[in-house]
Amino acid sequence: MLLIDRLEEPPDIRLVLPGSKSITNRALVTAALASGESVLSGALFADDTFAMVDCLRKFGVGITIDPDSSTMIIKGSGGTLIAPDETLWVNQSGTTARFCVPLAALVGSDVVIDGDQQIKSRPHRELFDAMTSLGVKIEYLQAPYQFPVRVNGDQLSGGEITLGGETSSQFLSAMLLSAPLFKEELHIVTEGNLVSTPYVDMTLAVMKAFGVRVTEHSGQQYSTPIGGYVATEYQVEPDASAASYFFAAAAVSGGKIGVEGLGSFSIQGDVHFLDILEKMGAKVIRSDDSLTVCGPDELSGVDVSMSLISDTVPTLAAIAPFATGPVTIRDVAFISNKESDRISALITELSNLGIQAKKVDTGLIVYPGTPQGGIVNSYDDHRIAMSFSIMGLFTSGVIVHPHQCVEKTFPEFYEVLDQIRMRGDGNLSLLAIDGPAGSGKSTLAKYLAKQLELEYLDTGAMYRSVAAVTIKSGTDLGDKNAVAEIAERILIEFDGDKIFVDGENMTKIIRGTDVNAAVSEVSANPGVRAVMRRRQRAWARARGGGVLEGRDIGSVVFPNARLKVYVTATPEERAKRRSLESGRTIEDITKEILGRDAKDSTRIDSPLVADSEAIIIDTTGKTIEETSDFIQKLFR
Ligand code: C5P
Repeated sequence: MLLIDRLEEPPDIRLVLPGSKSITNRALVTAALASGESVLSGALFADDTFAMVDCLRKFGVGITIDPDSSTMIIKGSGGTLIAPDETLWVNQSGTTARFCVPLAALVGSDVVIDGDQQIKSRPHRELFDAMTSLGVKIEYLQAPYQFPVRVNGDQLSGGEITLGGETSSQFLSAMLLSAPLFKEELHIVTEGNLVSTPYVDMTLAVMKAFGVRVTEHSGQQYSTPIGGYVATEYQVEPDASAASYFFAAAAVSGGKIGVEGLGSFSIQGDVHFLDILEKMGAKVIRSDDSLTVCGPDELSGVDVSMSLISDTVPTLAAIAPFATGPVTIRDVAFISNKESDRISALITELSNLGIQAKKVDTGLIVYPGTPQGGIVNSYDDHRIAMSFSIMGLFTSGVIVHPHQCVEKTFPEFYEVLDQIRMRGDGNLSLLAIDGPAGSGKSTLAKYLAKQLELEYLDTGAMYRSVAAVTIKSGTDLGDKNAVAEIAERILIEFDGDKIFVDGENMTKIIRGTDVNAAVSEVSANPGVRAVMRRRQRAWARARGGGVLEGRDIGSVVFPNARLKVYVTATPEERAKRRSLESGRTIEDITKEILGRDAKDSTRIDSPLVADSEAIIIDTTGKTIEETSDFIQKLFR
């Protein structure tokens, strides 16, 4: 559950967004089937792509991933996939589930595929029927046409299949991706209105990059040549669906948001979401390597068909109340089968916030209005969560629940949301104090907070609380996901000098030697830092500012703070002060704080550094009054 802070100032920012989920999962498949080693740059690292990586590894494909450089290196199998000795788990990923069915058939012996409840309740029948018509045996292990399934493709050769195309284009993409490795050519006939055709074009574009040209016949028929893929170095574009949230935010706010690396030649259909914003009055600047939206004074209503860009329906619906006229969205009946029944979810949640919205034939209408705050059910659907978070930028009191589902495709979503709020953070009455262990910053920060009549936040105590709970629960410090989950789960409250974690007084425990030894490892965990940063920002915004003390307050949490101070002192002085406070020996303390400083300043995420704009103050030999007078003058 997450309360979304309002946007206080129209943003003016260029964003770097994570890679496209749809392209990453397609390129992973083509690279896995190719001969030779492929490198995917700018790849997405999120639950859906981890699901794909995991399944491909079980097929015997060697994949090395490096989230820090957004790179994946794939040792292609040349099409010879081995039979996994355990069930393939596709989690909640629709592309992984669907793409893995024909891949499993390539193995030529039994492969079991299973996934999360959400994937079980989505439709897959057409894909299974198509596979069966090619001689592949599909055994339904729980319910007909649902996962889990056992796939055996020892009779698979090639031939002709017919796909309906009205439920999901992923069936067609799934067949296309594996077909070049079939023994004989595959001819695909589609019937009815093929939905989301831009995703089929994306599949063809990725296949072409890996050396396979599909022949397109009129009437949406396709023939795939046999022969297989060639390994390549492939640059994944930033995710256009993820960008839609920020383009929408720019449009409503009247600000300006650009997305780097996503250009007019994008192979993602969702860039056409911009055409709708343009129709509503936004100015759109398109170049080869960036797309930018400038929000107008007023957004007008629209009546649009979104069958080709259906993933952006929730985005549009969530900003629709801010338009001057009704927003009608058509031709998207099939989105009832996505991670949630999106049309019903949108109408229900908009109505709960006091916005009139109703179902029409193939879509919905949203009427203008002023949303009220309230709890929005995300139905564990990432796109519902992200869309209503955008609404929350312009509406006080929007709480998204559950909010963690953004991990599916966009783990950094809330961090990027904070980036667009940064301009407004410049208006806060905020003093950032950073520095190494024992530099005297907490005594100074408390003293200054009193003088300036601001509240004080000890951010180190927050990291210490996570470390304390991790130790207490017996969780392995190296288990990054588990420790990040603890950070997300626990409630940390301050009452004067006391700290309560989930209601328990932890004031003493968090200063103990166990926590001292563990805290730097916990604070180097990017998942923990993301949660803490979010909470620290929310804390200060709710108070109009404050004195925040830590390691990265001026450099990362509030780069627009009114004043940034970096406090240091000689190691001897720091150890002496701590020794007086704690009664421990100077040698013991020197070792501990220098060890912590070394870890804090060499970690990858937000290392301890003096920000270039920070005033550096060496407190060695100075009284607290002297230092504080100096800082107060600068601050005021
Ligand atoms: O300030 P204190 O010494 O209590 O901080 C404990 C630890 O928490 C630090 O050594 C550092 O690893 C971490 N920390 C951090 N970022 C902050 C504050 C503290 O990484 N903003």
